[in-house]
Amino acid sequence: MTAPTDMTLAGARAALGRREISAVELTRAHLGAIEALNPRINAYITTTPELALAQAEAADAALAKGEGRALTGIPLAIKDLFCTAGTRTTAGSRILGSFVPPYESTVSGNLLRDGAVFLGKANLDEFAMGSSNTTSAFGAVENPWKRQGEEETFLVPGGSSGGSAAAVAARLALGATATDTGGSIRQPAAFCGIAGIKPTYGRCSRFGIVAFASSLDQAGPVARTVEDCAILLGSMAGFDPKDSTSADIPVPDFAAACARGVKGLRIGIPREYRLDGLPAEIAALWDQGMAWLKAEGAELVEISLPHTKHALPTYYIVAPAEASSNLARYDGVRFGLRENGEDLKDLYERTRAAGFGEEVRRRILIGTYVLSAGYYDAYYLKAQQVRALIKRDFDQAWDKVDAILTPATPSAAFGRDEKQDDPVAMYLNDVFTVTANLAGIPGLAVPAGQDAKGLPLGLQILGKPFDEETVFAVGSAIERAAGFTALPALRAAA
Ligand code: GLN
Repeated sequence: MTAPTDMTLAGARAALGRREISAVELTRAHLGAIEALNPRINAYITTTPELALAQAEAADAALAKGEGRALTGIPLAIKDLFCTAGTRTTAGSRILGSFVPPYESTVSGNLLRDGAVFLGKANLDEFAMGSSNTTSAFGAVENPWKRQGEEETFLVPGGSSGGSAAAVAARLALGATATDTGGSIRQPAAFCGIAGIKPTYGRCSRFGIVAFASSLDQAGPVARTVEDCAILLGSMAGFDPKDSTSADIPVPDFAAACARGVKGLRIGIPREYRLDGLPAEIAALWDQGMAWLKAEGAELVEISLPHTKHALPTYYIVAPAEASSNLARYDGVRFGLRENGEDLKDLYERTRAAGFGEEVRRRILIGTYVLSAGYYDAYYLKAQQVRALIKRDFDQAWDKVDAILTPATPSAAFGRDEKQDDPVAMYLNDVFTVTANLAGIPGLAVPAGQDAKGLPLGLQILGKPFDEETVFAVGSAIERAAGFTALPALRAAA
């Protein structure tokens, strides 16, 4: 039998169903792996072994009675941006360092309803702002992958969901929740050689997820296979009256869609994504992806998304604007950290100065600036108008194609000390991912190849709003063709 930590989520579910392994055994194997490897890679901020074992015992009891649900006994990591009742939720920030929510986010609650086991809370960039998981107040996360011949170099796992992606890649969880405001599911998935999907805006409830930029934030899963992501999303998604932007439409059988194939599908190849200076390896991988889909019977169609070049600047106005407004609530009065001051204003200032890290402060400054009287029309309003054009580009593309294929990231994982002194170089990581958030459409990253040093590279599939099924079908076809079996250097011992 496959080692418990090496199983896919689907494989573990089948083994649990056949009683070949118990939920307690599966959970203990993961807790042991976390104990051995987490001190090094720092993928979890908080672990919850007692809770996990209690949930696993309950899962075994349910399975024994034939009352198993979609995720009964499946050990998961929960990004520490999802409020978990009774378990500390930090958002990677000092300001929430001791915050224990009295309520559960809808998405994590849906996973619990379906029988999942929570191993702990995964590390992330502070308030999900970043592309490297180096802005966390709880320390950086180490990517379990190593460049060949440079085993001593500390590579980032991507961000902001770096802890979720590293935990899954290193076999410290069978899957994890993540969130994506501009790429934070897809970019870390690509950097860690796993799959991850940002569903359509509104597919998953945002209730109980610490807000970054509310019109862009969306929850989704990361896992080692596309099918595992489909299974997780099936549980996470669904209408929630507690989130006014949650969509009241049925959740289809995403896992079934993985087997559909791509015959007859029209796949768009957007001209504007062939950036100047795109590394040859990434361009070659993209071409390979096209060839795989063509061989499976898809039709490739060149398309134009003419406003693509404005997406990053638009994102870096809209996201900080919404963040500056959302983060106003951390004032030392209602949540988490309080630094006493001489008067109320002094208390606010001391609390926020002590509680927020550098990147979060930078975003608040940008956001406050673009929303201020005199600049609002020039920046924020203009960005909203450009956002509408970016969305229109996609709306027009759907007349010609069923899905779109692009690279997931413009590079493989980089070193912890690279790009740190230049915020703009860091923001370029999101060049292929932010468009999906601005347009509200689903995007899936799937591992498809390796660079010359053996690091994983991902492709991205974008789809029509609420058509994650086609995205899963295309992603699965790429996954099958790529046959990606390489393993990270750091992982749980089998
Ligand atoms: N890297 C992007 C940013 O820093 C996206 C983050 C995210 O998707 N949460 O804003």
